[in-house]
Amino acid sequence: MVNQKKDGVAQRILTGLALLQDPALNKGTAFTEKERDALDLRGLLPPHVHTQEEQVTRVLNNLRRLSDPLDKFVALNALHDRNEALFFRVLCDNIDEMQPLVYTPTVGLACQKFGLIFQSPRGIFIGSNDKGHIAEVLCNWPYQAGIIVVTDGERILGLGDLGANGMGIPVGKLSLYVACAGVNPQLCLPVTIDVGTNNETLLKDPFYIGLRQHRLTGAAYDELIEEFITAARKVFPGVVIQFEDFANHNAFRMLQKYRDRICTFNDDIQGTAAVALAGIFSALRITGGKLTEQKLLFLGAGEAATGIAGLVVSAMVANGLTEAAARQRCWLVDSQGLVVKSRTGLAEHKWPYAQDHAPIGDFLTAIKTLKPTAIIGVSAVGGSFTKEVLEEMARINQRPIVFALSNPTSRAECDAEQAYRWTSGRALFACGSPFDPVQFNGKTFVPRQGNNSYIFPGVGLGVIASRARHITDDMFMAAAHTLAHMVTESDLEQGSLYPALPRIREVSAHIATAIADAAYDSGLAGKSKPQDVLADVQSQMYDPHYKSYV
Ligand code: NAD
Repeated sequence: MVNQKKDGVAQRILTGLALLQDPALNKGTAFTEKERDALDLRGLLPPHVHTQEEQVTRVLNNLRRLSDPLDKFVALNALHDRNEALFFRVLCDNIDEMQPLVYTPTVGLACQKFGLIFQSPRGIFIGSNDKGHIAEVLCNWPYQAGIIVVTDGERILGLGDLGANGMGIPVGKLSLYVACAGVNPQLCLPVTIDVGTNNETLLKDPFYIGLRQHRLTGAAYDELIEEFITAARKVFPGVVIQFEDFANHNAFRMLQKYRDRICTFNDDIQGTAAVALAGIFSALRITGGKLTEQKLLFLGAGEAATGIAGLVVSAMVANGLTEAAARQRCWLVDSQGLVVKSRTGLAEHKWPYAQDHAPIGDFLTAIKTLKPTAIIGVSAVGGSFTKEVLEEMARINQRPIVFALSNPTSRAECDAEQAYRWTSGRALFACGSPFDPVQFNGKTFVPRQGNNSYIFPGVGLGVIASRARHITDDMFMAAAHTLAHMVTESDLEQGSLYPALPRIREVSAHIATAIADAAYDSGLAGKSKPQDVLADVQSQMYDPHYKSYV
């Protein structure tokens, strides 16, 4: 018999077909002879017992026969639904190959076609028609959630409003929490709050999975979110709630409203900030420049841009600049041009970066005028780092810092090849979605992803491990420093500003340790500090190798 030991959840004792149909317990053909006898599995499985390694090879062979990434996404989802440990073993052991399939860029395509490829539900869907009953809805989740990733689907990657189809993002992110940081899968709860969509194509799509209504706004929207937050904390005490892919007008408000009340963070704002700052630290190890001497020009002035700028300002202040002087080193260009004080109707999140300067309408002129040392693309406008832009950056900088962070790949401001070619191989480049190594002038450049997936898994693990009550900006600063410290000299020699992805569990364990340390040291932890914080964190990491049941 298999006992599932879970806090707060009745033990389940499963045998036979029910055991094979429970993805959290199923091992498929890897059940041993002894287990088959003890668990009434005789005859329900083909006779040969495979090892998990053999099963992994079989999965990989099948995946590699498929040419379409979306087909691979569907196949991986099906595996997740039937055998959780095998799914995560495939991910953990092949993260370079798998991350682009379960996360950006493929997850973007999957969200666009979510209704069409839908096979079985995962996570909790809360509709605006569930108002007044959200706690009951959450109680239908059979596990004790420790971390929720929640979206309302309004700004999915750089793809805009995808309504309930946005569920692909919380599901994908939580898969990375498990694969990249070893957060226990049963603690992970993806949630989509379906308040409708203003995407007319989806509203007319017969396969669309969400409510056929336009988006709820104003007080009705806020009340629904408030009820969800209250219910989630009641049903899952101590749960971490990560806001994901909310549109600007809600993302900043929600973060301000809840950050000191509950254990929450917004990865698009805070996680992105940490990964970008870590990349800048790495770039400065190559140039030898000081952070306080950099001038950053952002293309985009939304969640990612202002999040990154905010953390860069804090880092510059920590290095001796005044806050005002640090802000003068962060310039933003949005769809209307340079963000300057004279502009009317500027959204509130842009105010701190509105400069005393004459308006400039376009990005290239802004570069020529301001002479930045770094350009950070977070605009979701594909191809906007043109040849002229990159050539100009190379003209004014010996080693220009060029981050094209928008996702998915179609939205990247430039690709890796363009970044290196148009700067004569001098760009210090990072990208939001993965790009292959580039050969240029006899040298091989290995660009790595400036993606918050380096940060959020470790943050989640650290918060869970220390039972932190709040997640502070200092924790994201600690995460940025930790990530940067894990970049080796040989990484830098090949132009990589981040560690290799196969090291991600080691990286996440160290980020989690930094987060937990910050929680213990600031009195925010829910338990006393263990003697060896790293060992304590590592002891809580999920291992997808099969356990013996008898
Ligand atoms: P957002 O909607 O908050 O911001 C987008 C910004 O781009 C807005 O300020 C908008 O005015 C600006 N913009 C739009 N058109 C423009 C144009 N033609 N020229 C200049 N600016 C323009 O979105 P966000 O959360 O900041 O995300 C932006 C992009 O960054 C998305 O593609 C997202 O996927 C990506 N992103 C990447 C990471 C990562 O880890 N690499 C993290 C977060 C976001």
